[in-house]
Amino acid sequence: MIKVLSPRLANQIAAGEVVERPASVAKELIENALDAGATRIRVEAERGGIASLVISDDGHGIEQQQLALALARHATSKIQDLDDLEGVATLGFRGEALASIASVSRLTLTSAVEGETGFCVSAEGRDMVADVRPAPRNRGTTLEIRDLFFNTPARRKFLKTEKTEQNHIQTALSRQAMSRFDVGFEWVHDGKVHWQLPQAATEAARAARIAKLVGQPFMDAALSVEAEAIGLRLHGWVAAPTFSRSQPDLQYLFVNGRVVRDRLVGHAIRQAYRDVMYGQRHPAYVLYLELDPASVDVNVHPTKHEVRFRDQRLVHDFLFKSLHRLLAQVRTDMPSASAE
Ligand code: ADP
Ligand code: MG
Repeated sequence: MIKVLSPRLANQIAAGEVVERPASVAKELIENALDAGATRIRVEAERGGIASLVISDDGHGIEQQQLALALARHATSKIQDLDDLEGVATLGFRGEALASIASVSRLTLTSAVEGETGFCVSAEGRDMVADVRPAPRNRGTTLEIRDLFFNTPARRKFLKTEKTEQNHIQTALSRQAMSRFDVGFEWVHDGKVHWQLPQAATEAARAARIAKLVGQPFMDAALSVEAEAIGLRLHGWVAAPTFSRSQPDLQYLFVNGRVVRDRLVGHAIRQAYRDVMYGQRHPAYVLYLELDPASVDVNVHPTKHEVRFRDQRLVHDFLFKSLHRLLAQVRTDMPSASAE
């Protein structure tokens, strides 16, 4: 017999795609905060984010009447029709994250818009909530997620140690902090403040933030990248070939502010290093590619780590040429010791 899934079950299934572990919750909630125009985001986790994950922002907030809707599946304020999807500039647009997270946790959403006092809603393992209660606060939003996967023990079993989950959150947060210098980030775990990153308005402040996030040795070896071609802009840092890695673990690429793992781009960068780095070594980079949102499709995968460029060849060649030129300038004949 064919039956339509209950909304709750549908959400739990969808959660399987989006919500793998506390870090994926953190990523979705930080994206929501960024989409809300936050200038400061605070992430506080307890016990690897499994016991609790609290993300607060100073963004535009959610109106009282919309609070319950924010937790409903396929409810989004970010797109209305297919045309919007074509040039989507926000990080979210599926309207799935909060519903999915709510279906597998104990969630409390507290929010206030400018000039109002604030309200909150709670959900326990379900998407719709009945009562909206007053909860005074300043403008912005706080999402509190407790007991992740409390009602899906099979999923919970797949979580690793608290330490590992903590590291995953930190990695996710670090990527976000690298992508948005105009936003201040704070990261607290089990009461310990790990980072306090103020907004970084100058080049020096940006470099300092990267050094804090990926290590000073990278920054010491970093070459500044700044290249432009028709409709494409590349900036950021690549390590001089003297600083290489045995693993591809210090490779960050942001396309229009989104963290992206892309084979094409990875290939272009490897090619650019080919003459200056041993085959088994991996280059290190923190790069930002900006292009017309209409020429890149971000709707490839729910976690949105993949993108599809309309003109792949153009992007590949632009990256390769820009970096190859830069690396040729600093090319030394003395291959020196590696960084690790
Ligand atoms: P999406 O981000 O794809 O729209 P979500 O389920 O992540 O879907 O969020 C649903 C809606 O809730 C968003 O479209 C937005 O209107 C609202 N929302 C979620 N988080 C925040 C936040 N931190 N600040 C303001 N609004 C938020
Ligand atoms: Mg979202």
